[in-house]
Amino acid sequence: MGTTALRDGDEYVLDGEKYWTSNGVSADWIVVYARTGEGAGHDNYSLFVVPTDDPGYDPEEITGKMGLRASQQARVELDGVRVPADNRLGEEGSGFYNLARFFNYGRIAVAGHGIGIAAAALEEAWAYTHDRELYDESVADNQTVQHRLVKMREQFEAARALAWTACERVMDGDDPAFWASLAKARTTRTAETIAREAAQLHGGEGLRTETRANRAFRDAKYPSIYEGPNAVQRDIAYGHWPEE
Ligand SMILES: Cc1cc2nc3c(=O)[nH]c(=O)nc-3n(C[C@H](O)[C@H](O)[C@H](O)COP(=O)(O)OP(=O)(O)OC[C@H]3O[C@@H](n4cnc5c(N)ncnc54)[C@H](O)[C@@H]3O)c2cc1C
Repeated sequence: MGTTALRDGDEYVLDGEKYWTSNGVSADWIVVYARTGEGAGHDNYSLFVVPTDDPGYDPEEITGKMGLRASQQARVELDGVRVPADNRLGEEGSGFYNLARFFNYGRIAVAGHGIGIAAAALEEAWAYTHDRELYDESVADNQTVQHRLVKMREQFEAARALAWTACERVMDGDDPAFWASLAKARTTRTAETIAREAAQLHGGEGLRTETRANRAFRDAKYPSIYEGPNAVQRDIAYGHWPEE
């Protein structure tokens, strides 16, 4: 984590580079995570509210994304960006803990993203296989196709049940780090699996970017990566394994 924020009187001076900053081109303000202390340890990071009209703020849109195109990201360079010390969120050195808290709750919403994509893909797979006529019968008249649809539904319902369980556990005060990571990893993986299967069941139509199944297939890759790839979610879940 190379971005630094050095204290200079009543201000901080930020230098560094951020990749994949959502809304980095269009936002008026962004929140930047920066190093404020030396050495290892979680106490060396802080969060800052940064105005994007500062002359040292230089965003460049990330192009060529295969999916999630309604959401825009940027590579951002911070070159001597000055912010008042009041723009620091929380105490100096509290950034890691605040960010972890944000992610612990936010990742449940990402689980919802996975569920939404999986639901769309499943709907499309059901509709297409029943509508598409092949040799005087629909694709869904094949028992193997019926089994594939049922298997997708099994996976979907299991993932959705886990997402709701995670919500309930967090509402009841259980460790959100464990439940959110578990739910994010499971639902987003399920979204990828179901979306891939739905695209396959569309045959050539599934390869056209205009179809909803194709969009689900491309979009499904995203929530398993943003807010931390699923391998990291499993690291977190293992580290927060509840003793019960
Ligand atoms: C649509 C989108 C929006 C985003 N918005 C923001 C934003 O607003 N702000 C922001 O700061 N970032 C944002 N990001 C960045 C995002 O959080 C990172 O891309 C993500 O955390 C993965 O980090 P990375 O790309 O550096 O991958 P890396 O950390 O380089 O990981 C690459 C791969 O290595 C493997 N891997 C990594 N760690 C482990 C591990 N511990 N064990 C096993 N395997 C591992 C995984 O397969 C992983 O996918 C966004 C990304 C996307 C795609």
